[in-house]
Amino acid sequence: MAKALTYDEKKDGWEKSRGFVMREVPMPVLDEKKNPDDALAVILKIKYAGVCGSDKGMWYRTAFRDMVHESLKREKKTLRITGHEFVGEIVEVGSMVPRLYHDPDEKNPVKIEKGALVSGDSHVTCGRCYQCRIGEAHVCLNEAILGISIDGIFAEHVKIPAKNLWAVDVRRVRPEIAAIYDPIGNAVHACTTVDFRGQRVAIFGAGPIGMFAILLARNFGAAKVIAIDVNPNNLAMAKELGAHETILIAKKKKQYEWQQDEEAVSRVMELTYGKGVDIAMEMAGPPSSLNNCIVSTRRGGHVIAFGIKDGDMTIPNFSRTVIVRGLTLHGIIGRRIFGTWQIAQRVLSNKSNGIQDAVWNVILKGGKGTILDFKKFTPESFEKSMNEHPKIVFKIND
Ligand SMILES: [Zn+2]
Ligand SMILES: [Zn+2]
Repeated sequence: MAKALTYDEKKDGWEKSRGFVMREVPMPVLDEKKNPDDALAVILKIKYAGVCGSDKGMWYRTAFRDMVHESLKREKKTLRITGHEFVGEIVEVGSMVPRLYHDPDEKNPVKIEKGALVSGDSHVTCGRCYQCRIGEAHVCLNEAILGISIDGIFAEHVKIPAKNLWAVDVRRVRPEIAAIYDPIGNAVHACTTVDFRGQRVAIFGAGPIGMFAILLARNFGAAKVIAIDVNPNNLAMAKELGAHETILIAKKKKQYEWQQDEEAVSRVMELTYGKGVDIAMEMAGPPSSLNNCIVSTRRGGHVIAFGIKDGDMTIPNFSRTVIVRGLTLHGIIGRRIFGTWQIAQRVLSNKSNGIQDAVWNVILKGGKGTILDFKKFTPESFEKSMNEHPKIVFKIND
């Protein structure tokens, strides 16, 4: 058996509960006779696992309700292993893995093979749909997401498709940071969608991915980075990470209020000499935040939408605010597989840009209180850590 952090639809319930439960689950095995897909999978011993905003959403039952339940129904079971950001050691490989995923280049020091340390994308794509076939697997028609619509990685051992794996070189990227390649990749994807050189950028939402975006925007040559958040602690960290300006925004009384925040927007206008930013990034989630982005962006500028909330929203006077002003709206989902991973690796490996150090020292606070022992998990201590720090990481196995 293996320990796993789980949600059970029958035993835990969604509506009146919260949290995940540590349970013993069967040790995953590769059994190609019973399950031919196992030929393409590996067994991982998970070392570190990042805790994501989406895990927090499931913990508090504010997100992914339908995705979790519909997928469980499809799989005819009630238990979901949570989590999707990981680094682990390959302990077993399916029979097709060496032929399909082992780089034959002898000069490549990191390979998908037994004993290797790997991270990997949390989106399991089909490989067969139109988007997958034309190299746009991040918008796969049939994608499943680890820890949400298929079993995830908050577990001592897991089975995962080899095609999702990205070999990690710990001489270049420390394992605690390799465990959060996935959300860093979201920020890389968002910050490589348009050219940041010389641009003024407003980042609405300075949570972990917004913080990564500050580091990347600066590295990619943005002239001015403005971070906006409801939490003064996050803004202090944003400053430390290199945001030129910060704006504290009032929290909306109701989460689904969509009206823009006049004060924050006029402050962005002041900081951009009345023009508005060239690029606004929505990394917070509430509908009001997308409207803040739209009206803070100059004519002809770009709005990069990443924050996810279910439900409808209103963009007032759409034709005047978006079309006539010539804005381009980009939806960012996941990471380009593996183009984004390659850029993330290079950005993190280059010690001179200070990004890896900043992620470790500032965002992960040098590991102080942010690296949690999986074996000592209690709902109370976990919840406390999750609310105290922008980013926490489980240490699962040595
Ligand atoms: Zn995540
Ligand atoms: Zn697909």
